Amino acid sequence: MHTSWGSATDRGPVRRVNEDALLAHPPVFLVADGMGGHAAGAVASGVAVEEFRALTGKASVTPDEVHAVFGRIVAALRRRVPAGQSAGTTVAGVAVATLEGDAYWLVFNIGDSRVYRVGPDGMEQVSVDHSVVQELMDTGLLTPEGAADHPDRFVITRAVGTDAAPEPDYWLIPALPGDRILVCSDGLTNELADPVIERVLGALDDPQEAAQDLVDRAVAAGGHDNVTVVVVDVGSAVPADLDTTAHPPVRTTPGGAPAPWVDDLDGATLPRHDRTPEVPS
Ligand code: MN
Repeated sequence: MHTSWGSATDRGPVRRVNEDALLAHPPVFLVADGMGGHAAGAVASGVAVEEFRALTGKASVTPDEVHAVFGRIVAALRRRVPAGQSAGTTVAGVAVATLEGDAYWLVFNIGDSRVYRVGPDGMEQVSVDHSVVQELMDTGLLTPEGAADHPDRFVITRAVGTDAAPEPDYWLIPALPGDRILVCSDGLTNELADPVIERVLGALDDPQEAAQDLVDRAVAAGGHDNVTVVVVDVGSAVPADLDTTAHPPVRTTPGGAPAPWVDDLDGATLPRHDRTPEVPS
């Protein structure tokens, strides 16, 4: 599967430190929004990115591999966060998964960072927030309009932390050519309404320009929180029934050796912008 992507993060003018972190490295794209006193939030979101980095470079991942990473984040947090302090982080993102030759996005979420998909029918939120307002909306006690200024709108009900076993939610959606995935922290969605986000994603083809523009707009709108955005575009998918025996297509690996195209899914996953994943400190 061919993907291209862009990412941007900003501390914003209000917060003292950026406790968001991101990973944008195939086959994993995620955002983590850390929380905790004495900058422990930045430690927590950084630990999440570091543990997920173990999956980068693979052609695809399995749900078990992703779930195991969540366990390792908790173990690492218990080592890293001083006793008596608590720290946690949201984690939301996507990873490429293959089922019977077809490419899927394994969507994962704990907390209130979000994953959206933009397809032919527009933009839809795939992940479901673990938040007080989402629970109130689920029970019909709150409308989406009322959620925007609800006093508990920043209170989340699940996180990856030192206190309990992680309970991420998972979804599996087909990775269709032309689809665009947005992963973002709540610093984006608390500043910009979904229709504004959708317009930007529809107007800017370059994923890096789209990611940067969204972050810039959220900061301009007040930037009350750290803002982090990852935009991933799906290019052409490898057809499952591709006959490679007749005319084996070859692709040259960085080392110069030709590699069979279908066995080189990762090599076919090219960044539009070659840059190292960022871990805000
Ligand atoms: Mn946040």
